[in-house]
Amino acid sequence: MRPAFHSPGGKIQAFGFSQSDVFWACWLHFEEIVLVANERILVVDSSAETREQLAATILSPEGYDVLTAASGEEGFVVARDLLPDLILVEQVMPGMSGLEMLAALHDAGVNSPVILMTAQGSEALAVQAMRAGVRDYLIKPLSQDVALESVRNVLRKHWARQIRDRISERLLQSNRQLEQRFRDLTALVNIGTGVTAMLDIQQVLNLVAEAAVSVTGAEVASLFLVDRQTGELYMRAARNLDQKTVSTLRFKVNDSVIGQVLADGQPLVLDEEDVVRARLVFPVKSAVYVPLRAKGDVIGILSADNRLEPRSFDQQDVQLLSILADFAAVAIENARLYAETSLERDTLDAIMRDTDDYVIVIDAHERVLFCNPTAREAFSVTRTDFVGRPLNEVIRNPEIVTLFEKDALVGRSRRSEITLNRNGSERTLNAQLTIIGGIGRALVMQDITLLKQIDKAKSDFVATVAHDLRSPLTAILGYTELLQRAGPMNEQQDKFVEQITSSVQSITVLITELLELSRIEAGFNIDLEPVSLPAITQQSLRDLNHHLNVKQHRLEWIAAPELPFVNGNPLRLRQMISNLVGNAIKYTPDSGQIAITMWSEQDLVFWRISDSGIGIPAEDQPYVFDKFYRTERAVNEYDGTGLGLSIVRSIVEQHHGRIWLESRENEGTIFTVVLPRGDDAPPASSYDTPQ
Ligand code: ADP
Repeated sequence: MRPAFHSPGGKIQAFGFSQSDVFWACWLHFEEIVLVANERILVVDSSAETREQLAATILSPEGYDVLTAASGEEGFVVARDLLPDLILVEQVMPGMSGLEMLAALHDAGVNSPVILMTAQGSEALAVQAMRAGVRDYLIKPLSQDVALESVRNVLRKHWARQIRDRISERLLQSNRQLEQRFRDLTALVNIGTGVTAMLDIQQVLNLVAEAAVSVTGAEVASLFLVDRQTGELYMRAARNLDQKTVSTLRFKVNDSVIGQVLADGQPLVLDEEDVVRARLVFPVKSAVYVPLRAKGDVIGILSADNRLEPRSFDQQDVQLLSILADFAAVAIENARLYAETSLERDTLDAIMRDTDDYVIVIDAHERVLFCNPTAREAFSVTRTDFVGRPLNEVIRNPEIVTLFEKDALVGRSRRSEITLNRNGSERTLNAQLTIIGGIGRALVMQDITLLKQIDKAKSDFVATVAHDLRSPLTAILGYTELLQRAGPMNEQQDKFVEQITSSVQSITVLITELLELSRIEAGFNIDLEPVSLPAITQQSLRDLNHHLNVKQHRLEWIAAPELPFVNGNPLRLRQMISNLVGNAIKYTPDSGQIAITMWSEQDLVFWRISDSGIGIPAEDQPYVFDKFYRTERAVNEYDGTGLGLSIVRSIVEQHHGRIWLESRENEGTIFTVVLPRGDDAPPASSYDTPQ
């Protein structure tokens, strides 16, 4: 009987096998070893008596199927054609001997186990038999027990060997598969690393095509991209295709099978029959196509195909190719971004190289990151390895170093002027220091020497004109006074003189304010320092105290404790406050209410003035900051130039602040100024400190 496995009560029993054989056999493939057919034994003996004894008496009763042959020649034919599970063969026979038959079977590729029977055993024969692969031998006359024992033993070992061989074969096969899988994964990992590390897109795509061939075992792999303008696919890289095809191949995709992959974004596997039906650009036997996706769009296709062997592709091939397609898409996207960035960098480089501005960028540790050629020349930076060096080693100009240091303390952007001595002449640079989040700080400087000269010329001119205008006005005023003293004038003459005086005073104020405004708008003389708004408010109020008293206004002002300083020009800020307070006094009828409040929120300082005055009609509100704009009521009832709020707005803007108003006619007006908070430290003040 062949070995049969069954499991009564859940316990596996084996006949003729060890438990471990059974375990491995079950583990391997249980169904293959539930073997129930009888084992077939060939008896080859020239003695009919022995054949009869073995077949009828010894083996058949044990359930074996017995075949018999009377000679070596006959035994050879039966064994070769019917492949018995075991052969018992007599050594000494007329014609072909037992061992000769065995050798002949070996040559014919039949390896059934053999038991040799002989009448006279000799050591030499035993050795010869073992060498020929005989598993056992029996001495005649045969003993039933010994013969049966030998048959069972040889068969048991034979089956055990068979199973072991099968197991080894399977293990080898799995090993080979694992090795292949490992090779595939290694190839994928290498590609992955390559994709992230390589910036040469062609190199990456070639690598992807190469890997596609290696992981799928395909004959050819190609990578196509979509040309969005023409709607064509063009080949971008390939493996095992000639270079000419790679560089020239283009085709329309609308109706093709490949077009389908592009349209639905799903992989496609074509076997031999499919490719006959499909209209393919290439004569292939089997193929697989996977889409290349970038940001959700299908931008191309990775294909693998066989052109000679019709070997089909499976899901594993699709998976591996999909991974490669993703790598390729990432590489293409990276390359696009890199090209974009490079272009931007080159453009920026070109701008920085050719600009007349001086640009210095430092990191958070005050090490130079960038210094353009203009700045290098201006500040005599001779060393080429300045990147990464401390600022004070690279730039010897103390003003620049101090500016960066000051800025580090304050932690915000600032504007300043820097003096540069070059070739014996003094240049003035307008320096703007800007914080670049995550990088450091950038100092951009322009040469404003010429502007300064022009500005000075303008100021000189305006001062001269103003002086020249003021002198005759002063003379007119003097003569009007003299007129009054020269002798008595009638009432009408008195009135005329009074009007002359008032007009001359108005023109004088106008000239003064125009001068002021043009100076402020030029904006070059703004030296910023920490300023206390309560302190300068107090000074302004002191100046305006007389007007307040005349109109008997009630004034209150509240400054939040520990109000932060603002960075500003104290004289200009005082002028701003004086103009606003002056307007509140002027445009509020006698015995009105005026309130000033100051507070801070986050990085901002607020200054607000409210009055209970005549208010500003809604339709005038958008224009009151324009030069010379005055409301109708103001024109009719109040003196003024219409320049005060223009001056205020210019000052606010010079200080990077904002101003707005809220007003209701006949109820009052609120002006709010908001300025960025400045340095915390009080200044070495250039303006009066509060009393
Ligand atoms: P002006 O010399 O006329 O005061 P401003 O530029 O200071 O010039 O103001 C422009 C106009 O805005 C004024 O003419 C007036 O109509 C209006 N205005 C300014 N401040 C106030 C205020 N506090 N109340 C009412 N109207 C005001």
